[in-house]
Amino acid sequence: MDINNRAEWVHCPVCGNKTRLQIRTDTELKNFPLYCPKCKQESLINAKELQITVIKGLGMKNQND
Ligand SMILES: [Zn+2]
Repeated sequence: MDINNRAEWVHCPVCGNKTRLQIRTDTELKNFPLYCPKCKQESLINAKELQITVIKGLGMKNQND
């Protein structure tokens, strides 16, 4: 048994729908563009130890580089 390596689906921070992205307890994402197939919004997220942090959401377009 490997309960420390379970995987969970990431839910869209905009609509709450399950996305097609799965993360594990040892997955780390930084500035990851999470795309939701349901509401078609892209959210920038961080993920660590199954905790999702939304950096930017709702399809905001950043014109500054
Ligand atoms: Zn969504």
